[in-house]
Amino acid sequence: MGDDNIPPAMTERDRWGGWIMARLDDGWCSALDRRTLLCTIYSRRPMICREYQAGDSDCIEERRIHN
Ligand code: SF4
Repeated sequence: MGDDNIPPAMTERDRWGGWIMARLDDGWCSALDRRTLLCTIYSRRPMICREYQAGDSDCIEERRIHN
């Protein structure tokens, strides 16, 4: 989105033609370090990730779905 500057190899197109973060076979974001669970492109992470607030209603809903 907008000024996002994501490494192209970590992105892919969704079914509607938009660019999204690629997921690996485990279903998690390609930028996630599986050992530390930290973002490997933190300073360049997409705007949607910058705006995401841990503990808000979206976060709680995602945790509910995936736990
Ligand atoms: S902050 Fe965004 S780009 Fe980084 S690992 Fe999480 S979902 Fe992926």
